Amino acid sequence: MTKNRPHINDLAPEIIAEKQGATEYTKISYPLRYGCYGQIRTRDYIFQFNRNAEIKTVQGRNGDWLTSSEWLKRTAGNDWQYFSAGGYSGAYNYTGEYYIPCLPYQTNTLFGGDAFQRPEVRDAFAALHRLYRQIEALDLTGLDRAQADFIRRIRQMTPETLEARGLRLHEIIGGTVSVLPPDARHVEYDIIPVTVADGCLYNCGFCRVKTGRGFSVRSRQSVTDQLLALKNFYDRDLINYNAVFLGQHDALNAGREMLSFAAEKAWEILEIKKSIMKGGGMFLFGSADSVLRADEALFDALNSLPFNTYINLGLESGDGSTLSMLRKPLSPAKVEEAFARMLEVNRRYPNIEITANFVIGAGLPETHLSSIIELTRNRLDRFCPKGAAYLSPLENIGDKNRLLTKFNELKTLCRLPAYIYLIQRL
Ligand code: SF4
Repeated sequence: MTKNRPHINDLAPEIIAEKQGATEYTKISYPLRYGCYGQIRTRDYIFQFNRNAEIKTVQGRNGDWLTSSEWLKRTAGNDWQYFSAGGYSGAYNYTGEYYIPCLPYQTNTLFGGDAFQRPEVRDAFAALHRLYRQIEALDLTGLDRAQADFIRRIRQMTPETLEARGLRLHEIIGGTVSVLPPDARHVEYDIIPVTVADGCLYNCGFCRVKTGRGFSVRSRQSVTDQLLALKNFYDRDLINYNAVFLGQHDALNAGREMLSFAAEKAWEILEIKKSIMKGGGMFLFGSADSVLRADEALFDALNSLPFNTYINLGLESGDGSTLSMLRKPLSPAKVEEAFARMLEVNRRYPNIEITANFVIGAGLPETHLSSIIELTRNRLDRFCPKGAAYLSPLENIGDKNRLLTKFNELKTLCRLPAYIYLIQRL
């Protein structure tokens, strides 16, 4: 047994207590790991751990693994995502990313089947559990100090502890994060969530992520308490984060004072400036009413923050009969006005990007897609790379190929970047 090749299992395992990945989020066609992490490499798998020694990614490295470039990733909320290259469809055209994080549920089988049902993925989870048992029994005497410390910290992070930590995260912010804004793809969904307001304005009939509560803004004290608790929670791994999500479903409606307060406090308490990831991102949702209510003072304040701010508006459709079918209490005129405001803010403020969310699915009126084309093509005189249009599949997607064909037709006509968004939670 050599100093850094102890017999954990298989052949030639390797333990690296601290490894440095990329420090800037990049859209690239091969897998890239970000930030600082620890790694155990065995014959068949690469296991990576965040700086709190929580398992972060698992990737197979033998011929049995699905695709050499795909991997499993655990979120801070203790969910597992399978990062898929998109199968035959390819990911980039549809999502703007080379890899699509697929959660083990619902419409996320749109690109390739459900990876979690495949034997290779089940084997990877079994290998992880085996690794925990082997780590428990490992003799640390052959390891250097950093390696031994790393192993001791992994021992603390048992599957039970990881589950409890997922619950603790939700307890801190006062609920689960049922959906993250699609723009959070720019930081691989590695955001720290802070709740600035609960509920939403409309409680639409079709929506699967709503809380069902009316809208209410949190107190400044609640936001500060959450941030202090989050700093403790993320602990040694805090330096790997440069982005926050201001929750829940319509943080924009919380108004200028709350948004400025939460952003500045997050920057300070979470020490974003010290992050090893370059830049800083702030992500939130807005609605037609909140974007129309937001005045120039609010956007001036957001634009002057050290973050790049991304706001995703849930517009869903520009068509009256579709909005009625979705039981979304908005008129086409208001959607149109909100969309025009989005384009205006995107032109005027370099550090703010507003994007729009629309639905896609089977059984919607014919007039639905043409209403999106009317907005995203006819309201612009040329292609504009800022302010994407996201299409979120409804529960009933119908025929998968038909849906993707419709999306491609829309994308060709759209004068904004157009992508499919598969719901991500935390
Ligand atoms: S779509 Fe948005 S506004 Fe409507 S219920 Fe869901 S979260 Fe609330």
